[in-house]
Amino acid sequence: MLENLKIGILGGGQLGAMITRHAIDLGLSVSIMDKDANAPCARYTSSFFCGDPASFEAVLEFGKGLDVITIEKEAVNINALRQLEKQGVKIFPAPDTIEIIQDKFTQKQFLLSHNIPVVPGEAIQGKSDLFQYENKLPVCLKKRRDGYDGYGVMVLKTKEDILAAFDAPCVVEELVNIKHEISVIVARNEHGAVECYDPVMMVFSEEKFVLEYQIAPAQIGDEILKDAIALAKQIAGALELVGILAVEMFVTKDNELLVNELAPRPHNSGHHTIEASTTSQYEQLLRAILGLPLGDPRLCCPSLMMNILESAPLNADKQGKLKRLLDVPGSHLHWYGKEGKRPGRKVGHITITDHTIESVIAKAETIRKILN
Ligand code: ADP
Repeated sequence: MLENLKIGILGGGQLGAMITRHAIDLGLSVSIMDKDANAPCARYTSSFFCGDPASFEAVLEFGKGLDVITIEKEAVNINALRQLEKQGVKIFPAPDTIEIIQDKFTQKQFLLSHNIPVVPGEAIQGKSDLFQYENKLPVCLKKRRDGYDGYGVMVLKTKEDILAAFDAPCVVEELVNIKHEISVIVARNEHGAVECYDPVMMVFSEEKFVLEYQIAPAQIGDEILKDAIALAKQIAGALELVGILAVEMFVTKDNELLVNELAPRPHNSGHHTIEASTTSQYEQLLRAILGLPLGDPRLCCPSLMMNILESAPLNADKQGKLKRLLDVPGSHLHWYGKEGKRPGRKVGHITITDHTIESVIAKAETIRKILN
């Protein structure tokens, strides 16, 4: 029905690969551009282009003749997307939405202007501006642009930390007393239809802000979950979103909900929807951007997702460890096929589904032991 549509994806990492896999289910084919010729997506489409999604010329060239373009990362060239939109290519999410979200401070101001509760924060130009916070420590420092997986985030506790801080335009935030971190994925199409996934709860490592695992459904009170879903829907409406949006939130020790950040694309916190939900976030994205009815986002069973990170213990016995992971009942392995080695890099993930939340959590321990 839709096989003649020319769909483009900017970014060819694992998220792009998972969109591609679900596009195949719908009988669609996709073109993908990534600056790395060996990106995970390169092997899954004959229509792979090597080019930088942040480059004006590359995006313009890639987009010519496509019907609709979507993204799997925010670092894309907005001006080229605006030009392509003028030429009749549909860009979902809209360039305006991507532009707001690309910058953590602009994002915060947008949310505040819509009365959405956010972590209080101020913009600074660089390190020299940080000394005015010397008497207000601790604070959380975040690069305004291009941060990911905690790499653009630092907690500053002492004057020495300020000396070692990023020297870039940043947001200085209050350090939140976090009780839980949750994420809510919401989808919206051009007709204004909205569907929301059940919130998931994320558990991070203390020292490096790296996600340890995530569980769905989130194990927090129903009232907070209802409020979180309402907030996610409100944000999707305010952005006039077409596509999907992950809304990361903090639940504070005082049970207050604060939006931490937005991602207008498939998100790590929705990997489990492939096995555990009626419609995966990847299929939902395609439905949303193609004007199709949105799918049922219902969670069918409890699930847990763990990232698999590049590490010396993993490399020492990769085949053996992956086989043992596959032997855990209810495990679903996703191996990204990434080239090159950098400790801490995400090279895969594993989703566990089972009948009860207790049993999936118990299996997390087994998985951790296998990976270490
Ligand atoms: P990234 O875009 O790199 O994922 P985030 O803004 O999501 O960065 O921050 C990464 C992690 O840092 C969060 O998941 C949370 O654990 C911690 N964090 C972020 N902001 C704050 C804050 N203001 N107070 C306390 N912890 C924070």
